[in-house]
Amino acid sequence: MSFLTLSNIQKSFGPVQVVKDFDMAIEKGEFVSFLGPSGCGKTTVLRMIAGFETPTGGTITVAGRDQTSLKPNQRNIGMVFQAYALFPNMNVAENVAFGLKVAGKPKAEIDARVKEMLGLIHLGHLAERYPYQMSGGQQQRVALARALAPKPQVLLLDEPLSALDAKIRVSLREEIRQIQQQLGITTVFVTHDQEEALSISDRIVVMNAGRADQIGTPAEIYNRPSTRFVANFVGTLNLIDAKVIDPGENRIAIGDQGVTLREPVAPAKAGDTISLALRPEAGSIAPDAKGETALTGEVVSSNFLGSVIRTRMKVGESVISFDMFNSPGLVPPAVGETVTLRFTAGDLLIIRD
Ligand code: ATP
Repeated sequence: MSFLTLSNIQKSFGPVQVVKDFDMAIEKGEFVSFLGPSGCGKTTVLRMIAGFETPTGGTITVAGRDQTSLKPNQRNIGMVFQAYALFPNMNVAENVAFGLKVAGKPKAEIDARVKEMLGLIHLGHLAERYPYQMSGGQQQRVALARALAPKPQVLLLDEPLSALDAKIRVSLREEIRQIQQQLGITTVFVTHDQEEALSISDRIVVMNAGRADQIGTPAEIYNRPSTRFVANFVGTLNLIDAKVIDPGENRIAIGDQGVTLREPVAPAKAGDTISLALRPEAGSIAPDAKGETALTGEVVSSNFLGSVIRTRMKVGESVISFDMFNSPGLVPPAVGETVTLRFTAGDLLIIRD
């Protein structure tokens, strides 16, 4: 049995059901992110794991024990919130010691654990500081140490990086992941930032309107989105309308250009419109580009994004974006120029919902 299980979880506030048929089995030591837009129910699921909300249906177990109706203080769970939520009248060491004091641990044990935790977050030298004397990133590291000090079975992180500057966000997420792996603690992380989820998770749950749309590793979610919603939400993706020409040969047309797909077009029939996904980084317009599939179109715009130049071309009624890696001397195609994008047929995915 998995370490943390959510079975058929439902949650309604009054007449409004905000979590529907939510199932998830998380292994011990796994780092799982709940990813989705504002209001999709991520925080509500997290709060049910913590015990701040009670499900209106379903079961939550940790280490084989049913926790569905336990109060938060009866669960062995650590939580970090978006707003650092440190006790303002306590210094760093006192904040980290808080849970251990409440649990009635002996002073020597508390002191040793606080020292260990401050070492873990590299803030041993700031033990006497008060929250108002620290940066947001430092406060959030203290909040993490405070959550971890009582050795919880599960660590819950509710958008812990959202209030921080972009640069600190990246360095702190790497630090969180490194600490999580060092301790081997089972972790659930809530975010609406796809890059964040892709970069630190073992698995991602993409949530849409209270349901889990897709559960998979970052590579599975990014490379093989199973629904239109996931395809749109995770990464910049071209969604292209295509007409089925010959389902037996998996032959379709984008505008008036024929393409043979790798995956079966059936059950779509000749004349049906289907949706295809193509990542902007999949193809190349270089003269020596490889790939058995080609689309030719007229360039409508070209944007410098730093590491890549994103160019858009018109193919039939579709506008297709593709990326060129920036390098010295690269001259992007001009607007109005005709270019041919080459890629492998396997890069074109059928999106079926
Ligand atoms: P965000 O990123 O904005 O926090 P979220 O995906 O975490 O979004 P939730 O906070 O879980 O979403 O909210 C899901 C839905 O449930 C929202 O429509 C919200 O308004 C509603 N909701 C949450 N808590 C309550 C409550 N206590 N009473 C009534 N409705 C609530």
